[in-house]
Amino acid sequence: MSYERRVPIAADCREIGFLANEVLGMELSPRTSLDPDDWTSIRRQGHIMLDDMLDHLENLSSGRVWSCPSETARAAMCAPLPLAPTDLASVHTDFRETILPFGSGNTHPGFMGWAQGGGTAVGMLAEMLAAGLNANLGGRDHMPLAVERQIVAWVRDMFGFPPSADGLFLTGASQANFVALLIARSRACGDTVRTRGVAECSQLVAYTSTEAHGCIPRAMEMAGLGTANLRMIPSDERHCIRLDALHNQIARDLAAGLVPFMVIGTAGTVNSGAIDDLKGLAEIASERGLHFHVDGALGALGVISDELAPLFAGIEQCDSLAFDFHKWGQVPYDAGFLLVRDGSWQRQTFASEAAYLSRAKTGLAGGEWWPSDLGPDLSRGFRALKTWFTLKTYGLSALAASISASCKLAQELAERIAAEPDLHLFAPVALNIVCFGYHQRGAAADPTVNAKIVEQLHAAGAVAPSLTLINGQQAIRAAFVNHRTTTEDVRRLVDGVLALGAANTPQRKAF
Ligand SMILES: *Cc1c(COP(=O)(O)O)cnc(C)c1O
Repeated sequence: MSYERRVPIAADCREIGFLANEVLGMELSPRTSLDPDDWTSIRRQGHIMLDDMLDHLENLSSGRVWSCPSETARAAMCAPLPLAPTDLASVHTDFRETILPFGSGNTHPGFMGWAQGGGTAVGMLAEMLAAGLNANLGGRDHMPLAVERQIVAWVRDMFGFPPSADGLFLTGASQANFVALLIARSRACGDTVRTRGVAECSQLVAYTSTEAHGCIPRAMEMAGLGTANLRMIPSDERHCIRLDALHNQIARDLAAGLVPFMVIGTAGTVNSGAIDDLKGLAEIASERGLHFHVDGALGALGVISDELAPLFAGIEQCDSLAFDFHKWGQVPYDAGFLLVRDGSWQRQTFASEAAYLSRAKTGLAGGEWWPSDLGPDLSRGFRALKTWFTLKTYGLSALAASISASCKLAQELAERIAAEPDLHLFAPVALNIVCFGYHQRGAAADPTVNAKIVEQLHAAGAVAPSLTLINGQQAIRAAFVNHRTTTEDVRRLVDGVLALGAANTPQRKAF
């Protein structure tokens, strides 16, 4: 029986190292850098990957919106920890086979679920450059930070904010709304909240409408203020906050000895795209000395369209504004943004001194204020670059045109619904969201038919709306955010809903 060597490869290398030491009498330092030995081959593979992704984007509309991940694909993501290396080309093949075909579909023109941006090829290329640079935007003196400051200045201009305003990129509006709430809390409690916590603060009460996004109550929970201290003010028939009810609630809370500190308006509610009366809210906030925050995650970028801008009157008066470049701005995920009327409020909330982050007058550690003084993160990615590329490459006018085009698609859909006897509009169409349902004339009402239709549409793969509740009733919800969606997709949606609605409605027996 021959002797089988069972020495692991790593030991072989060591042996070779020892051998070389003995023979050549020199130290061999093991190579541990992750850079390739052969840049030519990674360059070739990189070009293949780039071309492949551009092909994918170019041919999006010929594929399905969404496909249920295959068993093979799911199994591929239950693999053991990879101890040994795998060739890049082979990992890329895995990506092509198990990940790429099974995305959520938000790049596809037929995607109209939830409220998601479509991304662009330009954004993708910028992400690649940002990753190559591997910049950390927590602080220090380098041009990537200047790019983020450039975006802050542009955002100030877009929303008519004063030079004192500052802001920063965050993951998304959920985080931006939370950070805004912490800033409002600091304004109300002063510095003591940072040392002694909320327990030493008076009982703070915040106000928003019943249509507010779920991240607002969650922000109250995370800030230690509790949802019991968030007043969900009723909304009117247009799904906008009722100012009279807000007024009365504040008066009741003041009479009870509580401390109203913040009012949160929504510019484009997640359910139906309603825009609160921002001027009215600004007035009440200034009368009562409240921090006025606007959740503009979905809608605020509408201000760049001349047609839509009047809908947002009053937004320029808010104390802080959360919005998402990754929704209507089409910047690839993630790119949330918080704009704050006075940067000193941010510093009061977040700036701290740590020896290892000390600042110098000149050099790499220069700069008086770093983004880590303005928000909760220290290490931060270069979200500003893909945003800078998007704004510069397309220009505001093209982005504005795609924003108003998605509102026109919503109007087209509303008109089709009005013309179809079996379709019903569930909420007024204020912006880019349409909530509607199927109910065949004369047939018995089925409260679950819309859920069935949405699920079956997803499986069919041509269009993907989502489901919500409007006044307690299940509604099909089409949110037009993706710049690739066209009239043809609206037609596919209506035809699909009508066909599936009929198929799900029991036919009356003919006698
Ligand atoms: C999408 C959305 C949010 C949450 O934003 P993320 O970027 O997903 O965190 C908050 N509010 C409204 C109105 C939204 O539409």
